Amino acid sequence: MTGEEPRPSDCSEVLDHLYEYLDHEMPDGDSDKMREHIDECSPCLEKYGLEQAVKQLVKRCCGHDDVPSDLRAKVLERIDAIREDESRAAGPAGEPDCREAQSRQEAQDRQEA
Ligand SMILES: [Zn+2]
Repeated sequence: MTGEEPRPSDCSEVLDHLYEYLDHEMPDGDSDKMREHIDECSPCLEKYGLEQAVKQLVKRCCGHDDVPSDLRAKVLERIDAIREDESRAAGPAGEPDCREAQSRQEAQDRQEA
């Protein structure tokens, strides 16, 4: 085998179906193709890792599987910010934490009162 086979699916297709893949809602053949692509394609792997992190985070913080799209966007923003901080400071970075955000909000409310 010498010829390079084309990737089983292209990046936009993989990213379009990332949530189905994460939720195991894909037919076996399709999810195999997804995994092959993600294994070989670092941009998709990175995106996949982020989405997985978001799902786990939401599950841990809020105790359910559904990721409201606005929350997902916020968490992804937060993760991006953390990753920027990490690359700048190369130090330990905090995880986005629901309680932390809440207590910060409470402190703000108290100041305003
Ligand atoms: Zn890709």
